[in-house]
Amino acid sequence: MKISEKPFYSVQGEGKNTGKLCTWLRVFGCDLQCRGFSQDEPANPASWKPQFPEIIDPKRIKCVEEIPLPVTGCDSAFSWSPAFKHLYPDRTPNYYAEEVLNLLPNKKFNKVGHIFTGGEPMLYQQDLHDVFRSWVAATPLNIPNWLGIETNGTRELHPSKFIMMRDMLGSDFYFSISPKLLHVSGEKEKKAHRPDIAASYIQFAPSSYLKFVVNTDPRAWEQLTRYVDDISTLLGYTPEVWVMACGATVEQQESEYTPIIADMAISKGYNFSVRAHVITWGNAQIGK
Ligand code: SF4
Repeated sequence: MKISEKPFYSVQGEGKNTGKLCTWLRVFGCDLQCRGFSQDEPANPASWKPQFPEIIDPKRIKCVEEIPLPVTGCDSAFSWSPAFKHLYPDRTPNYYAEEVLNLLPNKKFNKVGHIFTGGEPMLYQQDLHDVFRSWVAATPLNIPNWLGIETNGTRELHPSKFIMMRDMLGSDFYFSISPKLLHVSGEKEKKAHRPDIAASYIQFAPSSYLKFVVNTDPRAWEQLTRYVDDISTLLGYTPEVWVMACGATVEQQESEYTPIIADMAISKGYNFSVRAHVITWGNAQIGK
């Protein structure tokens, strides 16, 4: 199992558990790239500006903290870009389960939750299972109070890997599904628009929800609406929907577009989420 930053103990920064204490494991690798984020024309690769504010030589970078925050594209490119693969060792799920426990007061979860994020954690379904099983093996039982998996919703679900989490945590186990929109992320629908897969996650874990990153482009909102319509048809009801403004930096989150996006979300009956970790810790977000 490869993770892309040291496990850390903080709070959830976005979505329904914002502000709640949790531990984090961020896996390495993703099946998307989202180079269109924060570009003037997200769906036009020929127009894209560079991802980093300065030219960097990945080979000279010795640790994840030395990677500058991208100004365009995926804000966690350090968690999947092959250019940074050399920074992350392979370890066993048991090793990372123990590392997480070492972060906690008296090594006990008590009321603390846990998040698997990335990159794309659904590339590591067996490993996620094995991390959880390692916690379950403790005597007395020592598992997270709640557990979320942050995913782009494109990888087929292998239910057997998550049955233990769901059966032990009930509605406190969920997928936070963030489908990527063409006119926001640059990802083509053929690969990134999979309401059928997201529906299978929600059918398996009903407290799961959708979380879209958007800008003000009407074409992005058209795709978002179509996605919600499609998944509502598949499920027979409309799942919980959250919307966040695109932007990895404080400056981007505080732009004049954020309140416009919040108003658009409210008018459509969607929840709006700030990115609390950006607002709280600024642009030094690794490990926060
Ligand atoms: S799906 Fe998430 S981690 Fe993967 S490239 Fe897109 S924003 Fe980054």
